[in-house]
Amino acid sequence: MSDITTADVRAELEAWLEENWDPDLTVLQWWQRLYEDRWSSPAMPVEAGGRGYGRDLTSEVSTVLAEANVVGPPTGLGLMLAAPTIAVHGTPEQVDRYIPEILDGTVAWCQLFSEPGAGSDLAGLQAKAVRDGDEWIITGQKVWTSGGHMAQKGMLIARTDPEAPKHQGITYFAIDMDQPGVEVRPLREMTGQALFNEVFLDEARVPHDAVIGGLGAGWAVANTTLTVERASLGGGGKHPISVPPGPIAGRLQKRVGDFTDRANRGPDGEGGRGMGTDAMINLARAAGNADDLIVRQEIVKLHILGEVNRLNMLRAKSGGSRTGAEGNLAKLSMSEMVRQSREVGNLIIGADGMLAASESATGGVVQEVTVFSPAPAIYGGTDQVQRNIIGERVLGLPKEPGPPKGTPFRELLQN
Ligand SMILES: Cc1cc2nc3c(=O)[nH]c(=O)nc-3n(C[C@H](O)[C@H](O)[C@H](O)COP(=O)(O)OP(=O)(O)OC[C@H]3O[C@@H](n4cnc5c(N)ncnc54)[C@H](O)[C@@H]3O)c2cc1C
Repeated sequence: MSDITTADVRAELEAWLEENWDPDLTVLQWWQRLYEDRWSSPAMPVEAGGRGYGRDLTSEVSTVLAEANVVGPPTGLGLMLAAPTIAVHGTPEQVDRYIPEILDGTVAWCQLFSEPGAGSDLAGLQAKAVRDGDEWIITGQKVWTSGGHMAQKGMLIARTDPEAPKHQGITYFAIDMDQPGVEVRPLREMTGQALFNEVFLDEARVPHDAVIGGLGAGWAVANTTLTVERASLGGGGKHPISVPPGPIAGRLQKRVGDFTDRANRGPDGEGGRGMGTDAMINLARAAGNADDLIVRQEIVKLHILGEVNRLNMLRAKSGGSRTGAEGNLAKLSMSEMVRQSREVGNLIIGADGMLAASESATGGVVQEVTVFSPAPAIYGGTDQVQRNIIGERVLGLPKEPGPPKGTPFRELLQN
């Protein structure tokens, strides 16, 4: 695998696209082609439907798909988080049961981790799972569940043993969202959209064979999900056009070519391409201030942040890691890039930035990024938490004071 170069990947994928991209396919048919030829998630191991590519080759696949202006693999937390987690911790039977339907976009997943009293202190979670024969009965509340309203499955962490120490009594489940014990209520953000939800679990049921990674091993499994999340959020590179998976999102039977036309792109940023350096240069040219020295300087600052992050992530590829904190650094770097995009975007469009996105002469992207910009510093673990991890695990600084590690969860102060 190691002797494959990015040039090889580019050549193979460009030839494949020449043969296979057809705007008249349905979204589902297109995703099935991507899956069958292992382009949906090339970073996944070969036995789980991927190609075992490292970060640089994976990023090249995204870049080629983006440059070809085709719809990318099914976006969402299934492909980004559930599949890689199950590939590491699932049994071979679970890999076969869950992963193919994620990679071809037929099933959408959400992440049921955060609770009203457990965000940064995730291991303090209180949702409980009680065994009932071959099933588990789940009761509790989750919050900030992105895409919960469109998901058929959830990555759920719940407490199965309150007598065990905090981090040891947690188990990771794959739960069916479509059942009487699961209620999903949307939360509206300041962007005007409702991308995330509260989820109430009232005696919801999960079969025992949907435990991922073993009873009481949920903290280690959740950490795999969180590690993948940090690295993907800050991963950089170009992103192909994104379309949400699963039947509830309602895109599977649509013509795939309809999503490659900007005019037809849907709400929620679907199909959007963010605000990278190229987008900023185009925006500045259109606004007539591409020669302004300050504007140029700020765009270059954004470019440098992106390049430093790209080089940082190259270190993380197959064994090249220097500190083990590349994922945390990437996540911090992404928060910074979004803030810098917001600053330079508003510098370019000036007073237009005060208009609602729908009334803006510059398309509204800057306004959307502006109201969304606080989010990346919070989701996937806040910036402060990333710094704590770097401080404690990489720099060897003393841990925050707390009760002895072995204290049973039941005896700890509960929020
Ligand atoms: C857009 C968005 C999407 C999300 N999607 C999901 C999802 O799909 N699934 C899911 O499970 N969760 C999701 N989250 C939740 C996210 O993971 C949490 O918001 C995050 O972990 C912070 O938890 P909290 O909101 O409870 O804040 P708190 O943990 O209450 O933190 C509040 C503040 O205190 C700081 N703080 C807390 N502890 C420390 C400490 N020890 N040291 C220093 N500072 C500290 C934090 O940095 C923060 O500034 C999403 C959040 C957002 C914004």
